[in-house]
Parts: sequence; structure tokens; C-alpha cells
Amino acid sequence: MKTCILTTDTYLNHDTGGGHPEKADRVTVVINHLKKIKPKNLIWEKPEKFNLKYLNLTHDKNYLSNVKNSFPKEGLNFLDGDTIVSPGSKKASMDAVESMLTAIDGVMKKKFRNAFCAVRPPGHHAEKQKAMGFCVYNNIAVGAYYLLEKYNLSKVAIIDFDVHHGNGTQNIFYNNKNVLYISTHQYPYYPGSGAESEKGIEDNILNIPLTAGTQSHEFLNAYDSIFKKLKKFKPEFILLSAGFDAHKDDPLAQINLESKDYYTLTKRIMTLSKELCGERLVSILEGGYDLNALKESVDYHIKSLTEDK
Ligand SMILES: [Zn+2]
Repeated sequence: MKTCILTTDTYLNHDTGGGHPEKADRVTVVINHLKKIKPKNLIWEKPEKFNLKYLNLTHDKNYLSNVKNSFPKEGLNFLDGDTIVSPGSKKASMDAVESMLTAIDGVMKKKFRNAFCAVRPPGHHAEKQKAMGFCVYNNIAVGAYYLLEKYNLSKVAIIDFDVHHGNGTQNIFYNNKNVLYISTHQYPYYPGSGAESEKGIEDNILNIPLTAGTQSHEFLNAYDSIFKKLKKFKPEFILLSAGFDAHKDDPLAQINLESKDYYTLTKRIMTLSKELCGERLVSILEGGYDLNALKESVDYHIKSLTEDK
């Protein structure tokens, strides 16, 4: 079985203005690299249309109508200080959600083994009622609701290894014991949330704050307690908020991972997903702002996702 890359070219039209770190080149370098090296066991698909009810489960009705009205006819519009939308953002942000749901369908229907969504805008900072940190819709949260509602699952785990805390995903699932949200992140740091004491309604949130300057081995060691927690929860599906900004070269944070650490980390998650949920796993791009580090890190991530058992 293959690994599927979900993407479209509409991300190119999500314009965040000159000098913004969350720019189209981020996805372009990833796609161009994968097309050039052609890893074995890789297929490509485009996202399919989805029922908007899953977006409505994730976000507040007023928020969704505000966002819908915020896409400008021309120029740029600010949803918050650093979340900027352009005319093309409307389609790009829907395609990001659609990619996640199409990826889930493919894995659930055994069309492919696992998937990586190469999309933007990212999603994990978007709360139920608030756009934030370059994120419009919380792509991965819509995915978790989709698994709970459409596929009737009752245990979905989200692992977020982006260097920033996924305040949005935590906010959306804080009171939902069907979703286990786990995050490793630099702390204290943007967005401010992610203390160990934030545990959710039924211990369904696990925050592992890491200090600036954390090295590879310390970061990877943090996953020992995460795996313990996952084994206890017994997820039926694992979703990955795959941000690659904990890389040592990333300009937006100060954690010191090497590119190859993303192979080790993904490999460990893959092994666990095999043991716990028949390898049902979908990964979606969140952050990662040094283009070369992002390209290399995704390469290692995909290497592990595509590797024969
Ligand atoms: Zn990030």
C-alpha cells in the first residue's frame, strides 16, 4: 500500500503579503522536492468536495460567516495581527480542509496506507471562534470530527509536534473526551497556552512544554511519556499536526532538532500506530519557515511514512 500526498495548486493564491513567513514557497519547495526525488510507494491525489457540516461542528457559526465575508475582492485583509487573507485564500483554505478529509477517506477505505497533506494555510492555532497565527480553519480538528461523526469512531488521537502550542486544537477539544490532544512545544512562547496544567475535561489533553534550547535527544525522550499515554487511550486513528519549525534552523523558534530527527520521530509514531490502530494515520503540514530545513524535514517524514514494514 502507498502513501498519498494530498495537494492542489490553490495554495499559491493564498497571498499573505510580502515578507510574511507563511508564504506559498513553503509548500512549493516540498512538492517540487518530492516530484524530483520520486520516493517509491508515493501517489498523489487532489482533494474532493466535502459536506460543510463538519466545518460547522468545528467552528462557531458566527465565526464561519465572519470568515466567509472577510475574503477580500482585491488586496489583503487581516483576521488578526498576523493572519492575512487575500481573494485566493477562500479556495485555498477550503482545499486545506478538503485535503484532510479526502486523506481520511482514503485511509479508512484502504485506498492508500497513510497520507500527508501538503497544504496551507495551516490550522492548529485556529480556535472555535477565532482565527490566529496564520490559521483560518482548524484543518486537523475538522478531520477529528469527521472521524467521530462520519466513521463513528470514539477515540481519535492528535499528535502535534509543531514547535508552537496548538491552542486552537486544544480549545476545540478541551471538553471532548473522544479526542486526545498531545502537544510538544516551546514554552513559554507563542501563543502562550500549553502549560502542563492544561489537561482537558478528562485528561484528554497532554501538554509537554519544552524550554528554548531543547536538543534532539531531550525532544525525542519527551515522546516516551506520550507513547505511554497513547497506549492507555488506545486510539482508533492518529492524526499528526506536522509542523517542522522545531528545526534548529527555523527562524521562528529556538528548539534544536536536526532534519533526520523527523525520520526517527515519525518512525516511532508509525510503529505505535501499527500496534494501536492498524496504522491508520494522516499527517498535515502546519508550520516550518526555513525553506531548506522544511524541505529536508518533510523528506525524512515521508521517508518514514513510505517505508516498507
Ligand atoms: Zn509553528
